[in-house]
Amino acid sequence: MRSLFLLTLAASSLLAEGYLDTPLIPGTQWHVHDSTRPQPPRADKEKLKVTTTAAPAGAVVLFDGKDAAAEWEADNGAKGVTWEVKDGSMVARKNGIHTKKSFGDLTLHVEWRSAEGYDKNEKKKGQGNSNSGIFFMRTYELQVLDCSKTETYADGMTAAIYGQLPPLFNACNPSREWNSYDVEWTAPRFDQDGKVLSKARITVVMNGVKVQDNVEYIGPSSHKVNPPYKKHADKLPIGLQFHGDPVEFRNMWVLEKK
Ligand code: MG
Repeated sequence: MRSLFLLTLAASSLLAEGYLDTPLIPGTQWHVHDSTRPQPPRADKEKLKVTTTAAPAGAVVLFDGKDAAAEWEADNGAKGVTWEVKDGSMVARKNGIHTKKSFGDLTLHVEWRSAEGYDKNEKKKGQGNSNSGIFFMRTYELQVLDCSKTETYADGMTAAIYGQLPPLFNACNPSREWNSYDVEWTAPRFDQDGKVLSKARITVVMNGVKVQDNVEYIGPSSHKVNPPYKKHADKLPIGLQFHGDPVEFRNMWVLEKK
């Protein structure tokens, strides 16, 4: 009896984080956050190269290494920006934040790294290992997470279209090293009645490796469900998620497409 118990315990500890009781993701055989959905291959370490491109002419600098309040405000009506500026980085604290300006189609550059001390704390794993996220139009998430050592459900890992689509590769640098996202974002289009004329699209290059290749969002990002599109403005702010982890960001800029 005892050996059966230990066997069960060992098997359950091997089970990947995720769910099998969630709805199927439209057009796929996978449940939302399916624990059995295959992990993408790891990118060749030699190919990983963080980009540190400076803002080009005409770009909106979202964080210059000094002042978080210049371009950001707190979600939920909280006063000021609670994120801390430390050694040229913006560190996630207390609330989500979003840009004061609104954007439609854009090019985005951002650099981020995992939370301080998490690499030495084995309890910090899966969705709890330096979770944040870039929310285009405050609606569509590009996941930020440290999957360099610990895994989670494939559609919630680093650079996933959260709850929808895993990245092509796990392109994480080791914990506490900087990562870069270079993103091309195309906003969804709606007609006057709210019908979707074209879905949101995204291309993501992480640390020099293409991890999302002009893919569609099937709708807004959510946990354990795939809600349908809901008509919204042509331009909306970019959100950064606070998920309880002091994830760090630097060198963030946006070039709007006309
Ligand atoms: Mg997230």
